[in-house]
Amino acid sequence: MLRKTSVFSFCVFAAVLALGFYWNQLNQTLQQREQASLIRDLINTQVSSVERLLNLSLLSTELLAHEVRRSNGEPADFVARAAEILRDFPAVSSLQLAPAGVNSQIYPFAANEAALGLNVFEHGPTAIATARARDDNRLTINGPLALVQGGRAVIGRNPVYLPGPGAKDEFWGFVSAVIDIDRLLSVTDLQKLAQNGYQYELVSPASPAAPEQVVFSGGGPLVGDNMQTLDVRVPNDRWLLRMSHGGHDGGGLVLGFGHVLSLFAALIIAWLVHYVLREPYRLRGLVEARTRELHDLAYHDYLTGLVNRRLLNEQLGQALREQSYSGRAVALLYLDLDDFKRINDSMGHEVGDQLLVAVANRLRAQVRANDIVARLGGDEFAVVLFISGGQHDLLRLAEKIVQELGRPVRLNNRDLVISTSIGITLAPHDGDSASQLLRNADMALYASKRRGKNCVAFFNVEMQREVSRLMQLEEDLRHALANRQLSLAFQPIVNIEHDRVAGFEALVRWHHPEQGLLMPGQFIPAAEQSGLIVPLGFWVLRNVCQGLVARIESQLDVVPVALNISPQQFRDKHFMIEVQTILSESGVAPELLEFEITESTLMDDLEATIAILNALKRLGIRISIDDFGTGYSSLALLKQLPVDTLKIDRCFVKDIGEDEEDRQIIQAVIAMSAQLDLEVIAEGVETLAQRDLLYAFGCRRVQGYLYGKPLIGAIPNTNLLSLQAASVAS
Ligand code: C2E
Ligand code: MG
Ligand code: MG
Repeated sequence: MLRKTSVFSFCVFAAVLALGFYWNQLNQTLQQREQASLIRDLINTQVSSVERLLNLSLLSTELLAHEVRRSNGEPADFVARAAEILRDFPAVSSLQLAPAGVNSQIYPFAANEAALGLNVFEHGPTAIATARARDDNRLTINGPLALVQGGRAVIGRNPVYLPGPGAKDEFWGFVSAVIDIDRLLSVTDLQKLAQNGYQYELVSPASPAAPEQVVFSGGGPLVGDNMQTLDVRVPNDRWLLRMSHGGHDGGGLVLGFGHVLSLFAALIIAWLVHYVLREPYRLRGLVEARTRELHDLAYHDYLTGLVNRRLLNEQLGQALREQSYSGRAVALLYLDLDDFKRINDSMGHEVGDQLLVAVANRLRAQVRANDIVARLGGDEFAVVLFISGGQHDLLRLAEKIVQELGRPVRLNNRDLVISTSIGITLAPHDGDSASQLLRNADMALYASKRRGKNCVAFFNVEMQREVSRLMQLEEDLRHALANRQLSLAFQPIVNIEHDRVAGFEALVRWHHPEQGLLMPGQFIPAAEQSGLIVPLGFWVLRNVCQGLVARIESQLDVVPVALNISPQQFRDKHFMIEVQTILSESGVAPELLEFEITESTLMDDLEATIAILNALKRLGIRISIDDFGTGYSSLALLKQLPVDTLKIDRCFVKDIGEDEEDRQIIQAVIAMSAQLDLEVIAEGVETLAQRDLLYAFGCRRVQGYLYGKPLIGAIPNTNLLSLQAASVAS
């Protein structure tokens, strides 16, 4: 666009310059013409002045010739007659009689003595003209010439023929008038004109025999441009008066000045045009730049500068369309940083951001320039690769990325190590639309995470089936929550010292209309993934409370009931409010409730955990750590948590008879709990042997099939024997 403006401006420049030059030239020509016409007028006047004076002056020779003819070649009293004549002809400086061409009488004689006796036919400069005058029998002008007697003049020679003895007249001689050049000049305005910058030159023109001779000149050399020439008619000859005006480079200077002015004008106009034309382009450029910025903002991640989800969708779509005719395979890698949230929470968002930028840079460095690297939000990234190698190469690259991202990142003087999980899907093999591929990669990522993080998984159809199944389950569960398909089972927690039921654990069951009774393991993951676990959890709490109230109102014996709180529910914004509402609505004493929270839930964001636990404690609700031993909580951390009970996970209890290591762990946990003043419950006790060992280690509470399986229905009675009987029956 700017190029067009420049070209147009240049054209304007060239046009204005050309116009300026043309105008200058025209002006110059007109001026010259005007000048020439003026000079012509002037020259006309000057020529007629010269002609008039010459003719008049030459008349003096006619008068004297007449005397000679009248006196038949013997004019009497030449001096008196010449003096008389000279009075009337001021330009004539002397008159001469030259019989047979030899000056015999001159008036005035004084100062002209040298010319006396001169044979005019032999007087070099005029010899030819003189001979011509005689031969033509015509008054002829000679000169200019330096006079023998001094000075410069022109001489009019009038040949006189007298009747001879025959029929033919005979040449007698010449009557000559010497005409002073200065006087001749003085009758003209030429000298005045010369003062006003004119140049002039009167020449007797060149003939092949004699070169051109200047009669007079003035004002300096003639200027060729406007020089005018006019014939001066002189007897028996032709003179030329030339005239010009102006200095030699005056006109050129004016012209040059005009050209320079034109150049400036052209430059200024072209610049203005350029400026005016450029303005819209400039504005358009600004708008385009702003649009680009907005586009960048809309299509790029502000933190890492990577492509965002929106642009990834577009570019992936584009890549898939191109791939359909290029035949090259496209791979989509979906990356998720493991436990990024932990770093973000513990070290602050600023460090988290820096870490993400470092990850983005490392990712970019791992792929080629035309591959696409995107940040999809949070700690999720995607890479689109155009691959030519096989799946094996791809796997190697993905593993290299995992390895590269796993190198420590130095931030805030600490080396942070982060692991990455990658899910990979291939087009066209796994799908041919961007949304399909993103879904596939997400599924593969999920599978990779389930395999234990820091690894790579390729998408396969099984994952698809699994997801479909989960989705269906989710849909059904939503339905189940609204349609009373859920119920609770209660499993006793037994004090083995006194063989008394110390409490129950409430466990959810789903009576699926098609699949029959479903255990939590079959639907809790789906509930967690869909977020349905939150309403489900509150449904359990509400039901437990109602069950307790029913027993109290029926004046039946009441023991505390433990219920499981999922991590999501525990982290829910409205968790405490909801708990309080349910408690106050039901009117149940909080001491009758125990919340089971898994170890990993508690360890995630410790600060928030402690706050919530304290709030629960203030209400009076007891807290136990479920599945203890499967997580990695340290003793030091446990001390900070306001918990009441540790539930040793079933996996340690299972082989307690055979596995020395498990035995040691259980012993250690029991010893530690005693020190921290915590209750211990051993889960999954199925045999008396297990029970006895646990008792021997100091454990006083157990839960397991030995004392009763979870019983569906209302909160059961605390009679251990009837519970065992019911359990066996179920
Ligand atoms: P959990 O909280 O550790 O519950 C104990 C699980 O062990 C129960 O399985 C119970 O039936 C089983 N169990 C008890 N004694 C024995 C035994 O002697 N031998 C064997 N083999 N198993 C025994 P269930 O009911 O299938 O629940 C599994 C898990 O599902 C629970 O583990 C809990 O984490 C979760 N869950 C159950 N109900 C709920 C609920 O209402 N809300 C939430 N968030 N999670 C729940
Ligand atoms: Mg439990
Ligand atoms: Mg458990």
